[in-house]
Amino acid sequence: MEYYIADSAVFIMGTGIEAYRIITIPSVTDELKSNEASMRFELARENGARVEIPDADCREDVLKTAKHTKDIEELSSTDLDILAKALEYKGISILMTDDYAVQNVARAMGIKVRSVVQKKIKDVLVWQKECVGCRRRFESGDICPVCGSSLKKRRKRKI
Ligand SMILES: [Zn+2]
Repeated sequence: MEYYIADSAVFIMGTGIEAYRIITIPSVTDELKSNEASMRFELARENGARVEIPDADCREDVLKTAKHTKDIEELSSTDLDILAKALEYKGISILMTDDYAVQNVARAMGIKVRSVVQKKIKDVLVWQKECVGCRRRFESGDICPVCGSSLKKRRKRKI
């Protein structure tokens, strides 16, 4: 039986989660504001859900991959933590998240992902910034160093 690594969406949106073997992280439980979400977490906890501190080495690996896929700007500290936990249990777990950037990094690392509500993305994407003015492409930044227009995120290629 697999573990389910749960981000906050699982407790906010999830139904029937008490049947799962859930592992989550402290920063996710801190994010649960609504009564419903807190109650779902308590219910999961009564059924054996675990709250674990993310592993520092796994978090480093997640950071490296997120930089490579250009998702790093989109990821919160909680996102990095949940990815680190999913990496630690890679092969015996499914990461449950609706966050697009988290799903992308997970896929790049070979972590199984399942959406809570939204449809999952099929391919791993690498992002680049494209100038809305001169269409030049850059690795990062918000303003084009050539013409001064703003840069927008664009998918570069599948890996
Ligand atoms: Zn430009």
